[in-house]
Amino acid sequence: MLIDLILRDVAAPTLAGGATTVAIAGGRIVAVGAGSDLMPLAGPDTDILDCGGRAIMPGLVDAHCHLFAAAAAQNGVDCRPAATPDAAAVVKALRTAAAQGDGWVRGYGYDDSPIGLARHLNRCDLDAVSTVRPVRVEHRSGHACVLNTAGLAAAGIGRDTPAPPGGVIVRDAAGEPTGLLLEMSGWLRRRAGPTAGAGDLPASLQRFARRMLSYGITAATDAGPDNGVARWQSFGDAIAHGLLPLRVTMLAGIGRLPELADAGLRYGAAACDGMLRLGHAKIMLTASAGGLHPHPEELAGMVNAARRAGYPVAIHAVERDAIVAAALTLADIPPPAGRHRIEHCAECPPDVAELVAQSGAMAVSNPGFLHYDGERYRATVPPALLPHLYPAGALAARGIPVAFGSDAPVIEPNPWAAMAAALTRQSAGGPALGGQGLPSIAAALRMHTGGNRIAPGYPADLAIVAPNPLATPAAALPSVRAVATVVAGRVVWRAGV
Ligand SMILES: [Zn+2]
Repeated sequence: MLIDLILRDVAAPTLAGGATTVAIAGGRIVAVGAGSDLMPLAGPDTDILDCGGRAIMPGLVDAHCHLFAAAAAQNGVDCRPAATPDAAAVVKALRTAAAQGDGWVRGYGYDDSPIGLARHLNRCDLDAVSTVRPVRVEHRSGHACVLNTAGLAAAGIGRDTPAPPGGVIVRDAAGEPTGLLLEMSGWLRRRAGPTAGAGDLPASLQRFARRMLSYGITAATDAGPDNGVARWQSFGDAIAHGLLPLRVTMLAGIGRLPELADAGLRYGAAACDGMLRLGHAKIMLTASAGGLHPHPEELAGMVNAARRAGYPVAIHAVERDAIVAAALTLADIPPPAGRHRIEHCAECPPDVAELVAQSGAMAVSNPGFLHYDGERYRATVPPALLPHLYPAGALAARGIPVAFGSDAPVIEPNPWAAMAAALTRQSAGGPALGGQGLPSIAAALRMHTGGNRIAPGYPADLAIVAPNPLATPAAALPSVRAVATVVAGRVVWRAGV
């Protein structure tokens, strides 16, 4: 057998028997051994990576993120509270950006909560940036954005424009759009075309992928609700050009199943030597438009349609009412394959968790929000609910399968910060939010490594990290980084290179 790569002198706390060497061929782990007993397998073309006794982990999996949005955010103006504490600062930062180039001016990350601007932006704010160029600023949640008057015109939104299903065009007392749009990203893309500076998107995508690799992430699931054939091709191109050297699973937008079928793509379809896969059908279920959207009957219709097309579903459900509706619906409609997923499961007290357990779905939780947004929750969420936000520990204790995702670009995709918060339920700088944490870092790692294992026969998706997470206090976990990241048997990232 021709061995491609040997990882030597690793500390493998997840391997039994004190193994310290991993041999890889054809993208898979072919042997694990102790000391130098695998070295005779090395041939003249075998790469040997000396890991200096550092810890090796199964590659980390980000089960829910938005790769193109994260790449685009890197091109935009940082409007998060730390960079722009008030509306005047937002306008000033955007104006600087608007002085160069043409087309859309993009900002991201503004926050209407008390720890941010304490209000939403509006088109008058953004008209001070430019009356000529269209301006779009993304809310930190990714579920709202604000356009200036030129932006509204470019998107064809006027006084009489009806809101699309599930979307909201916020209007003032006189009926004029204020510029604030809720749940309308997909509609905007279809209506106004790409509103990002598309030219440097490939470079930004590569930069963002490298950021994920630097944490030891080897696989990411893109949860775009509007993902269809064009997005599939974009991912394929990015992987083929080496811009995205990690495994990507693309969830399929529920409205895109027909076009995917027409293109010969079905659930589980693979491309790019297995680096790209088609995942669950993504359904947005929101309570931000006043009531539930879609209505539970319509939701059941969507899940059944997905089932007929062969897809289990991934339902976005943040609010308590949405999680209840998702769980009740999924309990009635078994998946055609695998398991249904409920994305976020954010507001999930014990009675709701019980319904999730009965639904048989897995929960894709985002404990990173507790780390990065804990102080916002403390300022905006009723205290009785705090212990039940993103309750990975409580969900797991009920036997619900849990996977972790960052939801980047909403927050930084640091899986170590997420695992720390899942253990301690502590925010970056504050006291614990209460609730049941996970019992151990090993339990957290199982939720962040998907099906990856360090054992013969498994794909060689691995991360060599420092410091050793299993010997690191929870408070210091967020600073764990990869020293080297291996995807499909190739070293695709090394620290400092
Ligand atoms: Zn998301």
